Amino acid sequence: MEDLRDKYEVVIGLEVHAQLKTKSKIFAPDGCEFGKDPNSETSPITLGMPGVLPVLNKEAVNMGILTGLALNCEIPERCKFDRKQYFYPDLPKGYQISQYDEPICVNGYLNVKGKKIGITRAHLEEDAGKLVHAGADGLAGSSYSLVDLNRAGTPLLEIVSEPDMRSSEEARNYMEELRNIVRYIGVCDGNLEEGSMRCDANISIMPKGSKEFGTRAEIKNVNSFSALQRAIEYEIDRQIEIVEEGGKVVQETRLWDDNARETKSMRGKEDAHDYRYFPEPDLMPLKISREWVEEIRAKMPELPQAKRERYMSLGLSEYDASVIVEQMGLALFFDEVLKLGASPKIAVNFIMGEIAAYLKETKLEINETKLTPENLVELISLIEKNTISNNIGKQIIVDMMKDGSKASEIVEKRGLSQISDTGAIKEIAQKVCDTNPAQVTAYKNGKVQLLGFFVGQVMKETKGRANPKAVNEILKEILD
Ligand code: ADP
Ligand code: MG
Repeated sequence: MEDLRDKYEVVIGLEVHAQLKTKSKIFAPDGCEFGKDPNSETSPITLGMPGVLPVLNKEAVNMGILTGLALNCEIPERCKFDRKQYFYPDLPKGYQISQYDEPICVNGYLNVKGKKIGITRAHLEEDAGKLVHAGADGLAGSSYSLVDLNRAGTPLLEIVSEPDMRSSEEARNYMEELRNIVRYIGVCDGNLEEGSMRCDANISIMPKGSKEFGTRAEIKNVNSFSALQRAIEYEIDRQIEIVEEGGKVVQETRLWDDNARETKSMRGKEDAHDYRYFPEPDLMPLKISREWVEEIRAKMPELPQAKRERYMSLGLSEYDASVIVEQMGLALFFDEVLKLGASPKIAVNFIMGEIAAYLKETKLEINETKLTPENLVELISLIEKNTISNNIGKQIIVDMMKDGSKASEIVEKRGLSQISDTGAIKEIAQKVCDTNPAQVTAYKNGKVQLLGFFVGQVMKETKGRANPKAVNEILKEILD
């Protein structure tokens, strides 16, 4: 397959649905909280009763504008809502209120690892309910499905990219950056596994050098970044095989099965005219004043790219900066620590080292531990003042996360302060030399790399409390 890949160029465009974190639904007063009893958030509007009218949720619009601005979009002065008709059991009205030809955001882009990916549009729409296929849910053999309409009417922002991506890796990078952005601006929790962010990947292939795109297939049901990449890779190979055998790729929607690691045809892809879009008669077109846009722009927090660049300007590597930004809780914690004036270098070593390891092991978020930014800053200042060594710091940070104690308290209680008293260190160093005469002779005969051995022994004797610089100097004095 590898050499066949060289003959083709891959074209990918993503449609990403982000569930907006509003308190209530986009056109109804029901709550949007996840995990409520099935069908408990179902007003007559959500149920599609005759005679009810939708009322637009302003917060959903605010979030749509904020996201558009973060994605470098224009926010047209006017947008409107349209009905998209299709019949499905999780859609009681028989149509979805969406936006068709006048969306809330247009003409944006995102810079992803140096590549500019165009964003065609982003539009507001309502989500459908959730079907639970009882047979698949453990009641094997049952011949019915259940519907939970709590999710019906939850606000979504569908973000449609240009077909600008050329590999599964680029698609994944784009999706990850989009997730970072919606999380940092607080409009979506970006959880692919729980479906609060969902992605349809449109994929086609064409002979290298061709100007005309091939027919695309749309892949649904990818619920992790790695699954997205796997699904695209699979789909590229599937399409190449079809074309190589003289066949034609058909425009269709395919479902990714992450267990079987393959896509399966779900349905022929509808064209826009199949949905019989028309303007939603129950909602006025929406005028968005420039003042409104500027009001929202003023609330824009620092975006992930700017955050990474700021961290790098503090001396972090690009890798470290990216790893911290990927974990929003850690990044916000790091920002607090920086605000309190701590050395970024030492703080990063702790965050990327012991803290990250502990969080990974316990599957906790930083704000679920008892470590406060103030306490980390105090620990760092003890190291900077040479009250404790870096090593001791590493030993006590886990306790600080577990019980919330202050570094100075632990140091005091356990007598961990650094020994800089040269007299005391000299005594221990002398003892180490006396008990290891063979090594001393070897050292004197030119095996100078044994110095590390002596330093290690002194550190062991002092339980890591001796000032390493002083230990080195004193040992050299004795041995040379
Ligand atoms: P639909 O609602 O029919 O899926 P949209 O316009 O919402 O259509 O989305 C089309 C998506 O498919 C966009 O992300 C676009 O970039 C992408 N796309 C369009 N043509 C191709 C193609 N030939 N190959 C890959 N992706 C494509
Ligand atoms: Mg679409």
